[in-house]
Amino acid sequence: MEPKEDFKRVEDMALTPVTEIDIRELAEIFDELDVYMSVYLPTASREDEAANRAFVDARRRAIEVALPQDLKESFGETMAMVDDHLFWRPVPGERGRIVFASAPHRLLHVYRIGIDPGRTMVLDTSPFLLPLAKLRDDYMDYGVLLLDSKEARLFCVRSDVPLEMNHLSTDLMNKHKKGGWSQMRFNRLRKGAIKSFLSEVVEDVQESCSRHKTRGIVVAGPGDAKNQLVEMLPAEMGKKVLGIVDLSIDTPEKNIVEVGDEIALADERARSIERAEELRAEIRKGGPAVRGVEATRDALSTGRVNVLVLLKNASVPGWICERCQLLEARKKPQETCPTCGGPTSPVDVVEELYELAERTGAEVEFVEEDACLASSEGVGALLRY
Ligand SMILES: [Zn+2]
Repeated sequence: MEPKEDFKRVEDMALTPVTEIDIRELAEIFDELDVYMSVYLPTASREDEAANRAFVDARRRAIEVALPQDLKESFGETMAMVDDHLFWRPVPGERGRIVFASAPHRLLHVYRIGIDPGRTMVLDTSPFLLPLAKLRDDYMDYGVLLLDSKEARLFCVRSDVPLEMNHLSTDLMNKHKKGGWSQMRFNRLRKGAIKSFLSEVVEDVQESCSRHKTRGIVVAGPGDAKNQLVEMLPAEMGKKVLGIVDLSIDTPEKNIVEVGDEIALADERARSIERAEELRAEIRKGGPAVRGVEATRDALSTGRVNVLVLLKNASVPGWICERCQLLEARKKPQETCPTCGGPTSPVDVVEELYELAERTGAEVEFVEEDACLASSEGVGALLRY
């Protein structure tokens, strides 16, 4: 499928959370020819910039040599289109850049992101999405609620960039002088004031969480207010608490993200281990699950996959027919497709399976390590039926 007209997205200055990039739309796009360029670069430091220039130059030469004559011109045009965008000065907080481009299809996407995406440059028949997909799996948005008994700050952390959504505070009992009350009465009033402040915070958090799709929320702060708040959360919200940590109320944003990341990433790891276990269990008892490239490919192409489970480092060489999308693993491409006579090209079969999953609305889970998956080339799927 060709991209929609004027498929051009260039954010001059703003950072884009990886969760905001429309990967589904990108997964729809492909051509019979190698006309889509995908570039991932780290942009955090000066050294990165020098290394990026050397890397892009070397890749440009290597791609050019390998291209057939009739594609060299469009490749040159695509390079001219992206050149500036690759080496723009980074904006504050930017740690990486992702560019998808094709001059023949007038496609140009430039994303500045807050995380390091590694260094990749690929010219292919479709945008290369696996690195982005892995980032999205690790860096799903999450919330951090930092609070004590009289102040609460709610952050949404998107691709390592913290946005302060809300700041609530109360002066509790300061408007009344302690004098004149018995200690007991003062304590009782104070407790009541804290409780009503915390219920206000709960409402706030609920409202924010219903507006944003997040992995969950980290509750942090000094003292006991955070535990009190967690107890007050409705059951549905309670399930979204990723962790409770001790943290000073004036912790700088950078450290809030560090602490939050550790907890959010641990949660992501636990979820992928659960998925891998579920897959193993279904396979053991002959339930709706498959493993291995061929079985997974067939399930995907008939729309039966609920969750595609991939080992993070999985990579299987093979070829695809650029016309009918026939996909074969572990074989050198045939000159033309045996089914439809269309042009073929060598591919990483895992990338193709990923794109197929996106197009058919399947969920995708990346797993760090798993012996069962490893024995089936890192590929498996939980099926709808
Ligand atoms: Zn074909």
